[in-house]
Amino acid sequence: MGRKRIEITLHTGYSEQELIKKIGRSVQTDSFSYRIEKKSLDARKKDSITWKLRIIVSSNSLTGEIPDIPALSIPYKKRNKHVTVVGSGPAGFFCAYVLQLAGFKTTIIERGSDVVTRNSGIKEFEKSGIFDLQNNYAFGEGGAGTFSDGKLTSRTKNITKEKLFILQTYVQAGAPEEILYMTHPHLGSDNLIRIVKNLRTAYLEKGGTIRFGEQADDILLAGDTVLGIQTNIRELSSDTAVFAPGHSAYDTYRMLMKKGVPIRTKNFAIGSRVEHPQRLINRAQWGVETLPGVKAAEYRLTYHNDTSLPVYTFCMCPGGRIVPAGAFPDLNIVNGMSLYNRSSPFANAACVAGVNLETLLEKEVSAEDALRWVEHLERSFHTYTGSYAAPACSIRDFIRRKDPDLKTATSYPMGLKNAPLRELFPERIADSLAQALTVFSRKIRGFDSGIILGLESKTSAPVQVIRDTERRCAGFKNLYLIGEGSGYSGGIISSAVEGVKTAFQLCETL
Ligand SMILES: Cc1cc2nc3c(=O)[nH]c(=O)nc-3n(C[C@H](O)[C@H](O)[C@H](O)COP(=O)(O)OP(=O)(O)OC[C@H]3O[C@@H](n4cnc5c(N)ncnc54)[C@H](O)[C@@H]3O)c2cc1C
Repeated sequence: MGRKRIEITLHTGYSEQELIKKIGRSVQTDSFSYRIEKKSLDARKKDSITWKLRIIVSSNSLTGEIPDIPALSIPYKKRNKHVTVVGSGPAGFFCAYVLQLAGFKTTIIERGSDVVTRNSGIKEFEKSGIFDLQNNYAFGEGGAGTFSDGKLTSRTKNITKEKLFILQTYVQAGAPEEILYMTHPHLGSDNLIRIVKNLRTAYLEKGGTIRFGEQADDILLAGDTVLGIQTNIRELSSDTAVFAPGHSAYDTYRMLMKKGVPIRTKNFAIGSRVEHPQRLINRAQWGVETLPGVKAAEYRLTYHNDTSLPVYTFCMCPGGRIVPAGAFPDLNIVNGMSLYNRSSPFANAACVAGVNLETLLEKEVSAEDALRWVEHLERSFHTYTGSYAAPACSIRDFIRRKDPDLKTATSYPMGLKNAPLRELFPERIADSLAQALTVFSRKIRGFDSGIILGLESKTSAPVQVIRDTERRCAGFKNLYLIGEGSGYSGGIISSAVEGVKTAFQLCETL
């Protein structure tokens, strides 16, 4: 059996028969099997938008060979070491899961609830406006990305062994197979709830332990060595502690800093969400409002000039909705999510300015100063509306600094309050956002007719842990801080990769 890699272009609404026919014509046989290796939308010419497919065909009439990407080989042996992992987001889960597969005993402690209880808690919060510390968009089983668009993109162009392992694990847990080959794969929140539950089952079947509603409040130390973790419920002794708390758990950051974990500031981004009717974005990107075989159009915009901060759109959620994503009461933060079919009538994206806090504030800034600065901004947005309603105005009014008079519909469930949004940001950030929005409105027709709302403060962590060469928190023998909260990853995939890499490091060290 030989294999050949071929490239095929098809119209967007193609059927499987058309695909098979085209493959057969390309390899000149009817007897073959095939696997899609890559599928991307080519929308450069609006009058002929097509799918580009890269396909591996196997057939007896072919002679070539194409090596597979080597699989991640997890080194199993019986090990008598216990690792406690704090947080069940992508970083914590994949770290604990790989360690469990490698023969360690692991326990995950998660301050929030299991994903089903969390889902009900979030619905209740959106109905009542009463914040639930244990069940919100930031905390609970699966971490911050459970109620998200579930985009699985990462900056690495080539698929690494770790990324392939993560994607395959998602597929085994019920994710659509297409995530293995789409250039912009996404899961959607409806799939994620089921996947997170199935991942938990797989982990428990391998002998892992997970404790919900249990929060790491302290680490028990003897000099530079962690002896265990003090939770709100018990003392857990442990040979190694891996913290994967995400970047919203400021109480956990503060506890770690108090214990001497070296944490410094880093660049991050601040801004708002913009929202438009999805059909406006479709028309701008495709020239038409619907395209068979494609769910909803996306965009990605960047802006930079010598006088402004760099501004970019981030975490675009086509056919999605905007959600209140704070981790603590009285903090007003927005983020975006969508379901798998991306069929809501709204498109939203973060529009954020990259910030170096020391340059912005023109003074030295410690990690604690950075946390306080972000928290203050998040609280000020809540103070402005007096609730989880989001301050909002039209993009046009934001650009022109006009008094807001907003009557547009939104997907945001907690309501909007007319606000001179520009005034709620430090001037340099607001001016940079306004400049960028002006340019974006030239790039996407009708962009300035959309709305801009809320505070997007959690695109990445404002702080970063200092590590030694073996990924440990510098100065500690058996303490790790990983994932988005460590400041070394951002997003589901890169955080999960952090988890896998840390588990491999522990396989070597312990
Ligand atoms: C609404 C929303 C949409 C998003 N959309 C996308 C997307 O489409 N694609 C993408 O790549 N990324 C997205 N992200 C970002 C992504 O979710 C994060 O980058 C990713 O989840 C980080 O993984 P993590 O494991 O490092 O941390 P998290 O996922 O934040 O997980 C940390 C976990 O630790 C728990 N925890 C914290 N402190 C403690 C403690 N002291 N004790 C016990 N447990 C604790 C928390 O409850 C949480 O479950 C989105 C985020 C949000 C909020």
